[in-house]
Amino acid sequence: MLTFINLIYFIVAILFILGLKQMSSPVTARKGIVWAGIGMFLATIVTFIHPDGQKDFANYFLVNIVAIGIGGSIAWITGKKVAMTDMPQMIALYNGMGGGAAAAISAVILIQQEHADNLIIQSIATLGALIGSMAFSGSLVAYAKLQGIMKKSYRFANQQIINGITFLIVILLAINIATAGHGYSMSGLLVFFVLALAFGVMSTTPIGGADMPVVISLYNAFTGLAVGFEGYVLGIPAMMIAGIVVGSAGTLLTQLMAKAMNRPISNVLFGNFGEGGGEAQEVTGSMKEIEASDAAIQMAFANKVIIIPGYGMAVAQAQHKIWEMTKLLQDRGVEVKFAIHPVAGRMPGHMNVLLAEAGVPYDIIADLDEINEEFETTDVALVIGANDVVNPAARTDKNSPIYGMPILNADKAANVIVMKRGKGKGFSGIENHLFFKDNTRMLYGDAQATANKLVATIKEL
Ligand code: NDP
Repeated sequence: MLTFINLIYFIVAILFILGLKQMSSPVTARKGIVWAGIGMFLATIVTFIHPDGQKDFANYFLVNIVAIGIGGSIAWITGKKVAMTDMPQMIALYNGMGGGAAAAISAVILIQQEHADNLIIQSIATLGALIGSMAFSGSLVAYAKLQGIMKKSYRFANQQIINGITFLIVILLAINIATAGHGYSMSGLLVFFVLALAFGVMSTTPIGGADMPVVISLYNAFTGLAVGFEGYVLGIPAMMIAGIVVGSAGTLLTQLMAKAMNRPISNVLFGNFGEGGGEAQEVTGSMKEIEASDAAIQMAFANKVIIIPGYGMAVAQAQHKIWEMTKLLQDRGVEVKFAIHPVAGRMPGHMNVLLAEAGVPYDIIADLDEINEEFETTDVALVIGANDVVNPAARTDKNSPIYGMPILNADKAANVIVMKRGKGKGFSGIENHLFFKDNTRMLYGDAQATANKLVATIKEL
């Protein structure tokens, strides 16, 4: 039986790895999720026939069925209901649950003291407990921030010193638990868990909302690591591999996102990004409006148009209409490209997914590095519901919360047309200097309704 179970675990591990590989491209991402889902389903089913479970089958079966029933129903319902724009907080929440589950497993292992004499296993279980607890409580804070439940970042004097001392105590307790054999006390274990959870909260509350995506990705890596450690302790290869895969993918994503924001991870964790520094640079000029018909004509007679989608395009679900407009422009001989900022929207790859869904071919979609030089030779930069990712304050205003973040150089195009509903700010809550420039025109309205008008006008030309 064990050989059969291990064979299934092996297949599960392959499904996880191949699933993740497919998720690296929007073309195959959906398939990748299904593959990984099948892997998870198989891994869960196998649990029911595992000899360890058979020992106390009635209890085991009941607990598993009830737990899977409750958890699965909640996940199914919330997953169906959640708006695309609320996806980051949902990911934060579920990621936190993963960290919490890993911490709970290690709590049972450490309470039972089954491996207390085995230094390696005990150390790994303790490390998993520490990382899993931090990922759990930290992710819940990230969720509360993104959901708007926690509206500001909490800081107090000497916070980093207090955090440092807390962390030191947690580490000392962890060393004791890992090395004391059966000699560690249950109250010490309890304090260890409470402080590890508190550390997750204390280190996340001071971080500004604009940095939450990076933080979520970091905790995602933590969760993966904790699950991997507990998989080792339990001797379940599929769990180990799933954890390692999530841990390494999360680490790479964290690095990429921090790089996209041009900031080291240490600065994300201990800096004050998203909270602003001193006085913001004064804005000069005024916002000038344009009608959809004039904007359409400008683009129809241009040589080159670069489209910059942002969060507002996701809210308006305007991607299909925008692709229709793009095809009309292409038919008229206009060169059209899409420029994607790595943190446009509200989750990594958000814009790529939307454009893929609308059928936009990949060869006209470019990343920031690839396209930024091209704005200078572009007639029209069409900004659709993007704001922060084209804000020149990131280059010029040292007090700006987004200072230092690389932006798409829309302002360097000969003409800029900005589609948005009104004077609403972006995620970072600051004014955008681009909107006030002489070569910028504001095209007000919901992005989908406006895109409809643009399509209608171009068709008539
Ligand atoms: P922003 O959040 O900066 O701006 C979005 C703009 O869209 C708003 O100014 C809003 O203006 C407009 N808008 C909203 N609804 C509509 C609509 N229906 N039609 C037209 N326009 C609309 O978006 P960006 O994509 O430029 O920047 C992303 C920001 O989010 C960055 O600050 C990034 O750090 C942050 N972030 C990114 C995450 C990621 O992983 N990608 C995750 C979490 C945060 P108005 O109200 O006037 O319409």
